[in-house]
Amino acid sequence: MIPKSHPRYESLRTRELVVYGIKKGITSMHGLIAYGRGEAFDYLLGEKTNKFAKKSIEAASAMLLLAKHPVISVNGNAAALVPKELAELSKLLPAPLEINIFHPSKKRETKIKNHLKKHGAKDILLPDKRHKIKFLESSRKYVNPEGIFRADVVFVPLEDGDRAEALIKNGKKVIAIDLNPLSRTSQKSTITIVDNIIRAVPLLIKTIKKFKKHDGNKLKSMIINDNNKSNLKKSLDYMLKNLP
Ligand code: ATP
Repeated sequence: MIPKSHPRYESLRTRELVVYGIKKGITSMHGLIAYGRGEAFDYLLGEKTNKFAKKSIEAASAMLLLAKHPVISVNGNAAALVPKELAELSKLLPAPLEINIFHPSKKRETKIKNHLKKHGAKDILLPDKRHKIKFLESSRKYVNPEGIFRADVVFVPLEDGDRAEALIKNGKKVIAIDLNPLSRTSQKSTITIVDNIIRAVPLLIKTIKKFKKHDGNKLKSMIINDNNKSNLKKSLDYMLKNLP
């Protein structure tokens, strides 16, 4: 049990969630390494949601609200870190949650599904071997015909670069959360939120609730005014400025 007074309480609590995910068979061991890489960047971000991330969250909210068929792609780390929030986002939009993991395992997919259900998720899809997206070799190419296969916007809280690129080549808009602005995911996605998923998803939910009353033109202008390359540069500049 981590005492709340600990100066690094949030960071340690988040680590505990990933470790719990592994113990429960939701998260892969590789997910631990991926989290570690993210944590290093979070340190440089001051472990807070910065202005550039808030701007991307606003553009992402507008894009998700304007989407005809938005889908939320869930991997083992996202399921361990923000299951309740993903369930809430799914209902709010509405958009199905589609499980898509790098290291394929039916058993793990079922565990993730049950974990999401336990946290209130209702609309959960699994990959279907009869349907795949093009330009991707790994088994992450298999998608659900009611989900990513026909999605116009895919929200992928944590992603690998190959898949982000393939989704884009398949004509989809991709919204990613990635603490590393240098990753291929960050560089290839339509909108990248450079922030920790733990902080970004609750803020995304809050922003979508606020934006629900805006009309289509106002939402469109928020997307037009967003520039992913410029946001990524701002996040890197921020990190470099913070170095001693
Ligand atoms: P890419 O293939 O996009 O170049 P990668 O090989 O660096 O990425 P992966 O190991 O596939 O990355 O995925 C981990 C990515 O997720 C890292 O870029 C890391 O910064 C990011 N990440 C890990 N944990 C979090 C988190 N809690 N919030 C946001 N991003 C995270």
